[in-house]
Amino acid sequence: MNARIITAARVLTGCGATHAPGAVVVDEDEIVWLGPTSELPGGWGGATRIDLPEATVLPGLIDAHVHLSFGGATHPPTAIQARTRGEVAATIRTGLAELLGAGVTTVRDLGAPHYTDLDTLALIHDRPRVLTSTIPLTVAGGHCHGLGGTIDSIAGIRDLVAANADRGADWIKIMGSGGFTTGGASSPYEPQFTDAQVRAAVEAAHERGVPVAVHAHGTAAIRQAVTVGVDSIEHCTWMTSDGFNLDRGLVREIADRAILVCPTINHLARSAAGRLPWPVRRDHLRIMLEAGVRLVPGSDAGIPHTPPGCYPHSLSAYLDLGLSPAEVIDLATRRAAETLRIGHLTGTLAAGLSADLIAVPSDPTRDLAQLTTPILTMAAGHLHHPNATPEAEEETRA
Ligand SMILES: [Zn+2]
Repeated sequence: MNARIITAARVLTGCGATHAPGAVVVDEDEIVWLGPTSELPGGWGGATRIDLPEATVLPGLIDAHVHLSFGGATHPPTAIQARTRGEVAATIRTGLAELLGAGVTTVRDLGAPHYTDLDTLALIHDRPRVLTSTIPLTVAGGHCHGLGGTIDSIAGIRDLVAANADRGADWIKIMGSGGFTTGGASSPYEPQFTDAQVRAAVEAAHERGVPVAVHAHGTAAIRQAVTVGVDSIEHCTWMTSDGFNLDRGLVREIADRAILVCPTINHLARSAAGRLPWPVRRDHLRIMLEAGVRLVPGSDAGIPHTPPGCYPHSLSAYLDLGLSPAEVIDLATRRAAETLRIGHLTGTLAAGLSADLIAVPSDPTRDLAQLTTPILTMAAGHLHHPNATPEAEEETRA
C-alpha cells in the first residue's frame, strides 16, 4: 500500500458536499476515502500524511480545448511543419509540466501533427489525463493543414477518421470553418467542407463510438455542425465577415440536442477589444447559457500568447456571465468531466475515482483567483508542489 492522507481546512467534493475540516485518502492512483477529518478511519498505518490547515482541496481543473504540440508564441501553428518529431514531443512535455503547475489534471487536446500526441503521451505516465483527437480533418490549404489531415473525398474522410480512431483518438476533430491563425484562403467565416463531407466524418466516428468536435467560428459553419449532428462545437463565435450573427433558433437547437460548446476563453479574452470584443462575446455566452447550452471552459492553450498554464486565469471571465465562483468551479470540474464523458473517472472527489485533485491557499468559492495559485496538484495519484524547488518536487515523486 502506498496511501497518502491529505487533510485541509475544507474539502470541496464537487458532489454538493463540503467537509470542513476534511480529509482525502489516496491509494496509488485512486481516492479510497474522503469525509470530515473527525471521521477519518484508522488503519492507514504507514500512510504519508499531508496537512494543509488553511487550504482548500477540490477536484483538479479540466481544460476542454488545448493544443499541447503547438507551443504558443515560440512555435506558431503555421510553423509546425518545419519542426522535427523530437521538437514537437519536447513541446508537449513542457506543456504537460505547465499544466500540472497550474492545477490542471485533465485536458482535451484538439489537434496535433502526425500522431505526435499519442506517441509522446505513451512514454509519460506522471502527467495530466489527456483526451486526444490526433490529426484534425481539414481541406487543402485549410485551417491547420500543417498537421497532416488534408482530405477531400468522402472515402478519404472515412479513412482518416477510422485511422485516428484505430490509433486511439478519444475525439475526432474537424476544422469546420477556417481559422485566424492559418492565413491564406482559409476564412473563419465560411465552412470548409460540404454538409455531406462533415456528415460522413460524423457517421464514421459514431460508428466507432467516438464523439466529434468541430472547429466553427462563423454562423454558417455552426449551422452545418448542428445539422449533421456533431457532439461539440469549438469557438462558436457567431462571426461573419462584417460582424456577428447569433442565430437564436440555432442556439435553441444546440441546447435541445445537448451539443456542448467550448467557447475557448483564454486569460486575455476579458480585455479583448479587437474583432472579438468581450462585451459582444459575453452577451453571446449569456444567451447560450440562458438557453441551456452546455458550456465547457477551454483555453485553446498552444496558440500564440496562450501557454498551457494560463487556464485558471481564464476562469474569472465566467463570473461576467452571472455565475458565482462555486458555479465556475463546477463548470471547470464536474460539468466539464460529464460533458467530456469522463465523469465516471474524474471531475469530482469520491471514493473509486481517479486521484485528480488540487489544493489552493484559501477558499475559492469566496475568491475564484485562489485557483491561480495552487499549492498542490495530484494527477492520478502523482503529487506535485507547483511552487516547490526542483529538489523538493523530486522527493514527492519517490
Ligand atoms: Zn484550437
